[in-house]
Amino acid sequence: MDSIENLKHECESCMRCSLGRTRTNLVFGDGNPEADILFVGEGPGEQEDLKGLPFVGPAGQLLDVMLRLIGLDRTKVYICNIVKCRPPKNRDPLPEERNSCAEWLQRQIALVDPKIIVCLGRISATALISPDFKITREHGQWHEMNGRRIVATYHPSALLRDVSKRPDAFTDFREIRRVYRELNSQ
Ligand code: URA
Repeated sequence: MDSIENLKHECESCMRCSLGRTRTNLVFGDGNPEADILFVGEGPGEQEDLKGLPFVGPAGQLLDVMLRLIGLDRTKVYICNIVKCRPPKNRDPLPEERNSCAEWLQRQIALVDPKIIVCLGRISATALISPDFKITREHGQWHEMNGRRIVATYHPSALLRDVSKRPDAFTDFREIRRVYRELNSQ
């Protein structure tokens, strides 16, 4: 039977792109695989590559704070990335790397089967919402995808670099809380 654990196990030997050769650990996902809400980042950074878990470095600490502000934590959400292996020097994942990893992500989404998907940052939004997604203009706008609600907000790393974006991100997170509560009260 297909389960998140089986899928992770299958993914551990993936060499579909060159990131497989440079990773320390696969960073498959973390949190509750039965969650109603899935957060999708870009790709592992240095800390994540070393620990094999997503969002455990500085950006992850900020993500945890933002989750707590809306009454969530890693026991209630599932967190993963567009690419499961660290791009060298934290560069953006290349189109061929995103394409190679897309099947893993699609199978992961199908297994978690969340009601809500939150894209963290531009790379995630361009992969999952629309190829020409503009995060500054379109963050916080909700879309429907295969019966799920999907929205993008700023990547926590962007919020660490530029604090002026934080009020907009908090507004997005409050809306995420509202939609999450609404869907869970039905
Ligand atoms: N940034 C991401 O997009 N993902 C992580 O897992 C860590 C940092």
